[in-house]
Amino acid sequence: MAEGQFDGLIQVYTGDGKGKTTAALGQAIRAYGQGLKVIFIQFLKSQSGGEHIFADKFKLFEIIRFGKGDLFQKSEQELLQETREAYEFAKKAMVSGKYDLVVLDEIFIAHWRGFLSLQQIIDLMQMKPGNVELIMTGRKAPQEVVKRADLVTEMLVIKHPFAEGVQQRRGIEY
Ligand code: ATP
Ligand code: MG
Repeated sequence: MAEGQFDGLIQVYTGDGKGKTTAALGQAIRAYGQGLKVIFIQFLKSQSGGEHIFADKFKLFEIIRFGKGDLFQKSEQELLQETREAYEFAKKAMVSGKYDLVVLDEIFIAHWRGFLSLQQIIDLMQMKPGNVELIMTGRKAPQEVVKRADLVTEMLVIKHPFAEGVQQRRGIEY
């Protein structure tokens, strides 16, 4: 995509309902289809899902996970370290000039768990080059982020089969 062709905005997908990560993936596919360069970065994401198999197989855009392995087995120090790595990587990718769409999946969970400060997220938002679209996802987006974003969607749970005891289904939840 030629520079200046596109005013990059900041989108936030939050809320307790299902659909935040999958909405970001859908947006990434749409962007890729239109020739935009996409990078999808995941904070504290241990579970491997169909999207990772898809990305490895077709290599259309990268999905970079920080947080491989069982998150419950890790110390707070390890999680903090992984979040720091994800944050530094995200910052570099965003300002590199290599990407038109940068997705920071579950960044709000990293904040909520105490591994990333509100100021660090605001710094990222302020650092965003004008031609980059930034999408951030995760439950519990901070109010200050909501205030500063251009587009905010809250997924609201009306029903979720987990409440009825349905287990995670391969290809749907992961
Ligand atoms: P998805 O990845 O399916 O788009 P999400 O990103 O909105 O979901 P997360 O908050 O990241 O959801 O939760 C991660 C996992 O929990 C996913 O497997 C997701 O399907 C599942 N999930 C999402 N919302 C709910 C809910 N309200 N109750 C139970 N499980 C949920
Ligand atoms: Mg998610």
